[in-house]
Amino acid sequence: MSAKEFMKWSSELFDEVVRASGVKRAVDKLTLPIWSWALRNSLFPLHFGIACCALEMAAASAARFDAERFGFVFRSSPRQCDVLLVNGWVTTKLRPDLRRLYEQMPEPKWVVAMGECAISGGPWYDSYNVVQGLDTFIPVDIYIPGCPPRPEAMLDGFMKLQDKIRAEMKGTFLED
Ligand code: SF4
Repeated sequence: MSAKEFMKWSSELFDEVVRASGVKRAVDKLTLPIWSWALRNSLFPLHFGIACCALEMAAASAARFDAERFGFVFRSSPRQCDVLLVNGWVTTKLRPDLRRLYEQMPEPKWVVAMGECAISGGPWYDSYNVVQGLDTFIPVDIYIPGCPPRPEAMLDGFMKLQDKIRAEMKGTFLED
């Protein structure tokens, strides 16, 4: 047996044992509140501004609205992020790249559609080259309406996301 096969076998065995013995459920119960608290208070949105709504995202992050006080810290790599914040119209050319960025983000992850363009295509809803809403190709958790939504609306949307995470209550093993 190679080292790789041994690692696979032993991790599957460990998983089976903790599941059968009920340890997994007990650990989940103990750690649920801690994980949920940590997840919702350290949201890392992907720093990916597409159009005019991105200016409101920038304003929300600056000193006056100070999004960081709620634990929202923008990162530039999808591998360090758990929130995909889309704020602008998505063209058919951009769609596959946006989908790839989403797939590069580790679980658990959430998606926020900010502004009319991300929600439905906005002023370009009937354009041949604009996607008619982000949720046509990525599951969206929170919608923030407006053209553009004000920074307060963005912060409010993220607080709604925190409520959603609290309601989901993911445990150590990130299972329902
Ligand atoms: S919703 Fe309005 S402000 Fe936001 S990207 Fe579209 S046109 Fe610009």
